[in-house]
Amino acid sequence: MTDDIRTNTVSAGQLYVVATPIGNRSDLSPRAQQVLEAVDRICAEDTRTSLQLLSHFGIRRPMVALHEHNESQLSERLIEQLREGQSLALISDAGTPLISDPGFVLVRAARSAGIPVIAVPGPCAAVAALSISGLPSDRFAFEGFLPAKSGPRRQRLQALATDPRTLIFYESSHRIADTAADLAELLPDRQICIARELTKLHEESAVLAAGDLPAWLAENAYRQRGEFVLLLSGCPEHDGEDEAEAERVLRVLLTELSPSSAARVAAELTGLRKKTLYALALRLHEADAAD
Ligand code: SAM
Repeated sequence: MTDDIRTNTVSAGQLYVVATPIGNRSDLSPRAQQVLEAVDRICAEDTRTSLQLLSHFGIRRPMVALHEHNESQLSERLIEQLREGQSLALISDAGTPLISDPGFVLVRAARSAGIPVIAVPGPCAAVAALSISGLPSDRFAFEGFLPAKSGPRRQRLQALATDPRTLIFYESSHRIADTAADLAELLPDRQICIARELTKLHEESAVLAAGDLPAWLAENAYRQRGEFVLLLSGCPEHDGEDEAEAERVLRVLLTELSPSSAARVAAELTGLRKKTLYALALRLHEADAAD
């Protein structure tokens, strides 16, 4: 790439936050390619991973490894280089930097130092999954990865159970089955969109009740492989009143009965579904035990 094009594409002393593909290399935008070819230096999470992508596009620029373990230390030096007039691009292994990826410390430091931070937007698994889910997209919240251990993960899901927004989670193949089991038990009636391997050969997505998610995953051996986004539909507003009443009844019953018996009695008293009440009883029971 010639210096002419470099000068045309990027300005000195600016930080470019560049999104890269989440699987399909063709999703690297022409502008991202131009910027990456033109900057003085590219900060990458794992330089070996990014080299494969960059080499594919014939991009050869000096690289710096910037990951969660060295970001704080390194940011100061990078800010100095930006102040001296160097241009830097920040990329991560896949998708948009900072979205469950490194970069926050550097971007914040650049902002504090008055350095222009320029977006070169592109793929992001969360937004890609939301855009195809058919779940409400007017209000949503990105929750990143749920806790790895079951206890904290269930607590987190319980805390989020009444959120009316569509919630977006990232999940890995190691934990997808466990997370699916927790979602099925705690929020069986909610709609889930599961999107795996987006933009890749084995891309697959489905919308189903959370209670059916474990069976969907078990349908074939490949379903638990790859990378996943889970979207959980928000708590329906009208359920708020029913849920408040169910919670009031269950709280009383749970002082004397097990979650299963409390759900059975509450179903007779309120006319609500026993399965739903059992999930709520479990949540209340576990929340009490955690206090
Ligand atoms: N920064 C990235 C982004 O913008 O989406 C996310 C990085 S995070 C470390 C990696 C997680 O993103 C994966 O575990 C998975 O949950 C999700 N992910 C990334 N690529 C994906 C894909 N092609 N299909 C589905 N989920 C994906």
